Amino acid sequence: MRVQIDFLGTGSTTPTPDRNHSSIQLAYGKDRLLFDCGEGTQRQMATAKLSVVKVKAIMLTHLHGDHTLGLPGFLLTCRLRGREEALHIYGPEGTKEMLESIMGMIKFNAYPEFDIVVHEVHAGLVFETEEYAVSCFPVDHDVPAVGYVFQEKSRTNIDEKALRKLGLEPGPEYKALKKGESVEWEGRVLKPEKYLAVRKGLKIVYTGDCATGQSVLEAAENADLLIHEATFAQEIKENAVKYKHSTAKDAGVMAREADVKQLVITHFSTRYRNEDLYKLLDEAKREFENTVLAKDFMVIEL
Ligand SMILES: [Zn+2]
Ligand SMILES: [Zn+2]
Repeated sequence: MRVQIDFLGTGSTTPTPDRNHSSIQLAYGKDRLLFDCGEGTQRQMATAKLSVVKVKAIMLTHLHGDHTLGLPGFLLTCRLRGREEALHIYGPEGTKEMLESIMGMIKFNAYPEFDIVVHEVHAGLVFETEEYAVSCFPVDHDVPAVGYVFQEKSRTNIDEKALRKLGLEPGPEYKALKKGESVEWEGRVLKPEKYLAVRKGLKIVYTGDCATGQSVLEAAENADLLIHEATFAQEIKENAVKYKHSTAKDAGVMAREADVKQLVITHFSTRYRNEDLYKLLDEAKREFENTVLAKDFMVIEL
């Protein structure tokens, strides 16, 4: 397992007993990235036994309350628990102003034990580490909004076992092979393609709220996992058009066209409960078979 994704909130405008407001935690190595922070996110994290303090960065897709109202409590808990590491918060235009209001409201600046660094993003690279990069892309919603791409970097692994069998220990020959050069060893020519294996990096895409479109298609291309909103069923497509959301069918079509490996649909309107939700799942599955219906506390490992 390289990535663990915890679905903390899979509902839309108002929370229900089964579905909280939007939030997803992605864990990679020691890094914990939180995508959206709807009201009640810290309680969902407590139930899922996830630590608020360990979150390295928060990526907001847009500033609607069902994706952001968990922030005041989240920040207060970070302080109470003695967080010292700076918290980076990324989001579209307006994020800085919103965070200033929140920090004023909770009197955060009177006790600044840790820094909050806010970055407004629109498209392109958000941040990167040696192992992965997070980028964003604009999406079509009724306020400025972005989706995010988590891209693990590909790795070239050397077949040490096979080389040691030939009596070749780690050294300059290994480095040359890793660079793609052939190496001579005891009268033999060792070709890199025989001793190298490229492990393709995982790609995970989260749309946030959006009317699906070209930017999603480009961002989601060949993703290992696409997490796409599916607020409505196709029978009320007019609502999706009016409020700039997607239907389950839209999400399925997108997954098929972008040639992703797996689709998770989320952010369901409260009108869909129990078996109604399976109608949404069936609708998406008619377009793209490998679709999963998100549930609060569902965990996906990749
Ligand atoms: Zn929403
Ligand atoms: Zn929204």
